[in-house]
Amino acid sequence: MKIGVLAIQGDFAEHIVMLKRIGVETAEVRLPSHLDGLDGLIVPGGESTTIGKLSMDFGLLEPLRAFGKTHAIWGTCAGAIFLSKDARRNQPLLGIMDITVERNAFGRQVDSFEADLSIPELGEGGPYHAIFIRAPIIESVQGDTVVMSTLPDGRIIAARQRKLLATSFHPELTHDSRFHQYFLSLAK
Ligand code: GLN
Repeated sequence: MKIGVLAIQGDFAEHIVMLKRIGVETAEVRLPSHLDGLDGLIVPGGESTTIGKLSMDFGLLEPLRAFGKTHAIWGTCAGAIFLSKDARRNQPLLGIMDITVERNAFGRQVDSFEADLSIPELGEGGPYHAIFIRAPIIESVQGDTVVMSTLPDGRIIAARQRKLLATSFHPELTHDSRFHQYFLSLAK
């Protein structure tokens, strides 16, 4: 199993540390050829406009879209925005996942917060401690996308469409590897 992490902006290093910790081979992806031989790809948190623009400059948009037709891709925070069909603004998106997102839905950096979530797909181990940093919400899901978790007020913060996964929060900033393990099960 070899998982790539899009490494052009954002906290890709933290995802790589987590993947190595659970014994997975990793690769930093900056060019289309770096996708060869990967079983899945993670798009990290960061700044979705920057990730989009640099992906365009590096000729990555079409190769990433093609990769997502047959492989698992997981977007965390800015990565989730990048996967979405609609971010309600004009910015480069992969547009491969049937979700509509609202950027910075909780306010500014100082409004970042942590919450214990119930995520049944993660199985045993109790509530999942999630870190939200200038996070988006998933405003709505379409097609065969399923909601994986919501905040107590019903706002959607994790969703899956077949092998595509989107989370508003940052599992790579915790010591809980359950979400990364879950992604490996999608990539298999
Ligand atoms: N606010 C960022 C954006 O809209 C996402 C923040 C993050 O990835 N932690 O792209």
